[in-house]
Amino acid sequence: MRKTIVAGNWKMNTTPSKGVELAKAISEKISKSGLKENSGMLIAPPFTHLSEVSKVIDTNLICLAAQNCATELSGAYTGEVSVEMLKEIGVKAVILGHSERRSYYKEDNATLNKKAKLVLENGLKPVFCCGELLEERNANKHFDVVGTQLKEGIFDISAEDFANVIIAYEPVWAIGTGVVATAEQAQEMHAYIRKIIAENYNEEVAENTTILYGGSCKPSNAAELFANKDVDGGLIGGASLKADDFMGIYEAV
Ligand code: PEP
Repeated sequence: MRKTIVAGNWKMNTTPSKGVELAKAISEKISKSGLKENSGMLIAPPFTHLSEVSKVIDTNLICLAAQNCATELSGAYTGEVSVEMLKEIGVKAVILGHSERRSYYKEDNATLNKKAKLVLENGLKPVFCCGELLEERNANKHFDVVGTQLKEGIFDISAEDFANVIIAYEPVWAIGTGVVATAEQAQEMHAYIRKIIAENYNEEVAENTTILYGGSCKPSNAAELFANKDVDGGLIGGASLKADDFMGIYEAV
């Protein structure tokens, strides 16, 4: 049975000391309430925070993730951070293919495919993001766009490796805009993603894959989104920066 997950993408927010405070607050709250059955929580602070954050959270309850990683393991790649470095400081997952990485840093499906394989080979989990632009949805191309991102980005890995992949559907027009996808739009795309996973692998793999929704998710709209049968939780940006809001969203999963 697949897990439900609420994941926080902090992006380039908080200083290291503020980040440690936020992580501590989240960890204290989840330690008090405990995790719900078959569910998980993940936080992805900036690189500079990871080492300290790993020391203040209960890692049995919270999965520590990075927001990116290099395409190589080591060497002359100024400014990059490798999966091996992340692994050594307690990182267990890596967000890949966020729309901000795709658009501002021109990360294409081939680059993301290389990163995803490196993450998996090193025993970490990719949180693989996909999602269409507003003009692509308006042109009725959203299924094709998401299908291509997944086919070129991650569908050539083995079924065994795919068991460690978390998919996040994030319509670009909903990220940080306050415009949230309707429950119907989210369910329709998540069902499509599950269908193409089944076609590429098999029904069992598809049923076991956690597919998160991301885009202006808040405590007030999370329950309606998560009530859909193919929506297995959320990847949360803005609302993951306040412990109470993040917990409020977790309560809805
Ligand atoms: C995100 O960046 O992954 C995201 C979903 O952002 P927000 O929740 O702020 O829309």
